[in-house]
Amino acid sequence: MTFIVRPVHVERCISCFSCVFACSRRTGHVDLGHAALRIKTTPPPIAGGSGGNFVIVMCRACKEPVCLGACEYDAMKPRPGGGVIINSQKCVGCGKCADACPLSAIFIDSARQKAVVCVHCGECVEWCPHKILVKEEVGKQ
Ligand code: SF4
Ligand code: SF4
Repeated sequence: MTFIVRPVHVERCISCFSCVFACSRRTGHVDLGHAALRIKTTPPPIAGGSGGNFVIVMCRACKEPVCLGACEYDAMKPRPGGGVIINSQKCVGCGKCADACPLSAIFIDSARQKAVVCVHCGECVEWCPHKILVKEEVGKQ
């Protein structure tokens, strides 16, 4: 089975960062630099006012990832089901993949100088108290 994780019901997000912390903890210790998703706040509709929204920034598992073509170090390969897998042995943290992603969904871990992208493992899903993230089957591969 192959799965992807995607946000639904984004309107419920309260920016509690549970998903971000859960993701960062995959590596054995909490460090937001390891997290493969972010919560961003959009500006309010009126400058200086209130009413901005929260946006979950994470890889959407493109079938033809443009980030893949940007890597000059052969550090990325397609992920079955969509998205990419980064080979951290080869990655030099140049950030070209991050620049290429139209969703800005690749993050550079500055401490390690490595790119970080969602691998759609689903670790974050059960930690969201508002059931915003779902893990969906996308086929048998
Ligand atoms: S940051 Fe790493 S994966 Fe991304 S383009 Fe550079 S070498 Fe490739
Ligand atoms: S990182 Fe961006 S371009 Fe690459 S597969 Fe994910 S959403 Fe697509």
